Amino acid sequence: MEDYHRICEAIGPGDYSLAHYFSGNHIIVRHDVDDKVNLAIEIADIEHSQGIRSTYYFRYRGDDSERNALLSIRSMGHEIGFHYETLAKAGGDKEWAVRLFKDQLAALREIADIKTVCPHGSRGYRNHKIMSEYLQRECALIGDAYLDVDFGNLDYYSDSGNQWHVYQKLSDHLDNPDKKLDRVAVELLDVIKAIESGDNVYIATHPQHWTQNVK
Ligand SMILES: [Zn+2]
Repeated sequence: MEDYHRICEAIGPGDYSLAHYFSGNHIIVRHDVDDKVNLAIEIADIEHSQGIRSTYYFRYRGDDSERNALLSIRSMGHEIGFHYETLAKAGGDKEWAVRLFKDQLAALREIADIKTVCPHGSRGYRNHKIMSEYLQRECALIGDAYLDVDFGNLDYYSDSGNQWHVYQKLSDHLDNPDKKLDRVAVELLDVIKAIESGDNVYIATHPQHWTQNVK
């Protein structure tokens, strides 16, 4: 968590949520709450104490620990989003996946105002394949944290695999998913340098990795 403090210090106070990005901001901070919701609360708390607002994407699990974490993070003023994985849950059946998406979104909206969504990386399924402008309009969403971001205009840093990486040409990969994902391992200091030099950055974390500091 010490490392995360350093990132927050470099970024400084502000609203870096996806909802704010879609209204014209250029720095994004996003957290995928895949697992270990308590670690997400810790990160939310660190940000909150430094005047930072970001987005937390919750999978719909429908249990108490998820609900409590969501309420706690919401109460700190962070944006809550939906980390959808319904194509995987529906075993690849698109129509079923869209129905499930709407049901789960509605259930989450009973506890938080949700404006943005982000696909979870499920093994064997590309969950974002169900997303469309039509579905977003129908569900009154303002954007998808993966599909609607202009990756040509910012550097995407992620802590996936317990190591910081910068992803290059992610927009090419989105246009052509068969193209190999081009990612380069970097140090925490490189992430901080990029932030401090005023680059447009997109930082994506998975709080479950933060039991130990990410290398
Ligand atoms: Zn995920």
